[in-house]
Order: sequence, then structure tokens, then C-alpha cells
Amino acid sequence: MTVRLYYDDPYQARFSAHVVESLYLDGRPAAVLDRSAFYPTGGGQPHDTGWLNGIAVVDVVARDDDGALVHILEAPLADGQAVEGEVDWARRFDLMQQHTGQHILSAAFVRHLGANTVAFHLAEDYTSIDLDRAPLSAEELSVVEALANTVVLEDRPVVSRWVSDAEVPALSLRKPLAHEGPVRTVEVVGWDCSACGGTHVRATGEVGPIKIIRSERRGAETRVEFLCGERALADYRAKHDLVTNLAREFSVGYWELPETVHRLADELKATRREVQRLRNALLDAEADALMHEAVPMGEAQVVRCYLPGRSPDDIKHLAQRLASRPRTVVLLAAGGEGQKGSLVFVRSTDLGLHLGNLMRQVCQAVGGQGGGRPEWAQGGTPHGERMGEALAIAFQAVAEELRRGG
Ligand SMILES: [Zn+2]
Repeated sequence: MTVRLYYDDPYQARFSAHVVESLYLDGRPAAVLDRSAFYPTGGGQPHDTGWLNGIAVVDVVARDDDGALVHILEAPLADGQAVEGEVDWARRFDLMQQHTGQHILSAAFVRHLGANTVAFHLAEDYTSIDLDRAPLSAEELSVVEALANTVVLEDRPVVSRWVSDAEVPALSLRKPLAHEGPVRTVEVVGWDCSACGGTHVRATGEVGPIKIIRSERRGAETRVEFLCGERALADYRAKHDLVTNLAREFSVGYWELPETVHRLADELKATRREVQRLRNALLDAEADALMHEAVPMGEAQVVRCYLPGRSPDDIKHLAQRLASRPRTVVLLAAGGEGQKGSLVFVRSTDLGLHLGNLMRQVCQAVGGQGGGRPEWAQGGTPHGERMGEALAIAFQAVAEELRRGG
């Protein structure tokens, strides 16, 4: 069993020790020491990193059967070797701030809302707690956050100690114990007492600002994500820069951003409506012009037109407008050399031609596919250069049909 130096002094980053077991874990070199300041993954807190004789410690795990701390290394160390250890202090202190902040915030949720923390997760970029209450309003979260920050400013001592079985009933632990035996308690004096094996700062002032950044309802629970210390400051910096740059881009004060964004959204909506109106007017004018080229055929008229470079959508809208005239057949094509070709055939409802069938035949003739209803059909082909030919076939067939009285 490794003596865990962080229990007594979480601020000790450097230490001397001996390798008592040199081993490989999942193919990676590892070492067990007689004493260590490295915290292993557990209790919701990630492991420390650092160095043993300059060799990087990439992971630390507590071995279940004997409680030994196994340091996973980038290179092996020899059995019995003396080592100088160093914990990556920046990472450790950040984790201590987040972890202590969690104790303060969880207690604030209990005191203000009677909401208990049922799960805790300390990640590399945020910390989350799951509360046994839902939903929580923005107002409630904001009051709890303010309460937690008051405890930070009060700079209350954070004290850890080992407590025997007999003493446990006299403690007012925030969470009941899951097991028996001696327990390590961490007390934010006058605010919170919890059983915890993690690393914490010595006084609440060192936690720095506590900021809730997100909350999400999960059934009967709420997950709350928050940042402490430098993480909160980095988040503020990033958001401040974002807001400042946006305001500069729009040439307004940052407080005018919501109004500016709403105004732009309204303008965009109005512009889109106007573009649609102009587009429709343009298509109406184009349809009128095409109508002059209609070929009279008995009591009906046929509009045949090849519109290279236009989108399938455009010719669909045009065809619809043209076919709203009585006794009219419309045959339109778009596409060209080296492009896909598209075809739209439409007729007024007072004629009897089956344009879906015609479309199928025409598309087959030009190596494409298509079909549709009697009064509305569309098709396409990879051979855009054959659109003239396709229209000629269709026109011929429509002419014959109309002659027969279709
Ligand atoms: Zn803790």
C-alpha cells in the first residue's frame, strides 16, 4: 500500500520515494512507490500528471486489491530505484479549485433549494453535478451561484481529517456514508462537511470565482455545469472578446447587440419576402413573353421553349404560370452541353393529354428518366446537350395527339 502524501498535504508537489514494484500495465511501463503525492483517478476527480526522475507520469490508478498507487510511465523505472517525484502543479491546483468549488456549490444547492447532489464529474474542461430536483429556474440558479461566491469571499478554512467509525454519527455529513470504517472528512468550516478522498484548497478564497455555465433537465434531475478559478476567468475572457468583437463589427456598443441582432433578423426576413415578390414578378413577365411564342394548334396552343442555364426550379415555376391559361400545353427544358438536362411538361386542366406517359417516352429516347401525372410531369437526363431533341420529340407527339382531338 502506497502512503498517499496528498491526504495530509495537497500542496506538496515534490517528494522523494523508492520504487517498490516495477511492472507493465496493459503493455505500458508502470511503477508502484512506497510513498506518492500523485492523486489517482477516482471519486469524480481525474488523476494527476507529472514526472518521476524526469520520466512523464501519464496516468495514475489505485489498485483495488492492495490500494497501491500504480504510476503509468513513458519509460520504465527499476525496482528499488530512488526517485524524485514532481506533480504537474498547474493541473493539480486547477483540479483542487474545481473540486473545492463543487463542495461549496453542492452545499449552496442544499441550503437554498433542498437539492441534493447525486453525481459529480470533474472533466478537463468543465465540472458537472447532477441534482435530484427539476426543473431549476434561471433565477434559482443565479441565487445559488451568488451564495456560493459569498462563501468564496468569506475565505473559510477547508479542513480534512480522518474520523473513526464511532465519531461518524456525531457528524452532520451532507451525504450519508455508503460504507463503514474510518472515513476522511473535508469540512468547509461552518458551511459543508462531506466524506471525500480528493484534493482541496486550504481556504475557500483560493477557489476564485464560481460560475454556472449551463443547466440541463434530465428527467427528475438537473445537470449543472460550472467553472471555478482560472477556468471561469478564461471563459469570461473568451466571451468578453467575442462580444467586444461582434460589437465592433456592427459598430455598436456591446449593450446594443441584442437590439442590433433582432433588427438585422427582421431586415433579413423583409428582404427575403421582397426578393420572393420580385422573383415572382420576373417569372410572370417572362411567362407573358413566352406566351407570344405559343404555337396555335386547333383550339389549343403549345408553348415550347429551351431555356439553357436556368434551374429546374425556375422552369417549374414558369411552366406552372403558363399552364394557368386555358387550353395550353407547356413543354420546357433547361440544361445544356456538359450539364444535366431537366424537362417539365404541364397542361391546363381542360385538355386530355397524358403528359406523364409522354415524359417517360421522351426521357427514354434521350437517355434519362421521368414521369408524372396526366397534367404535370418532370424528368431529367445526364445528357443536357439532347434537350433540343427531347423538345422536338415531345412537340411532335403533342401535335399528333391534339390533331386526333386529345
Ligand atoms: Zn472533495
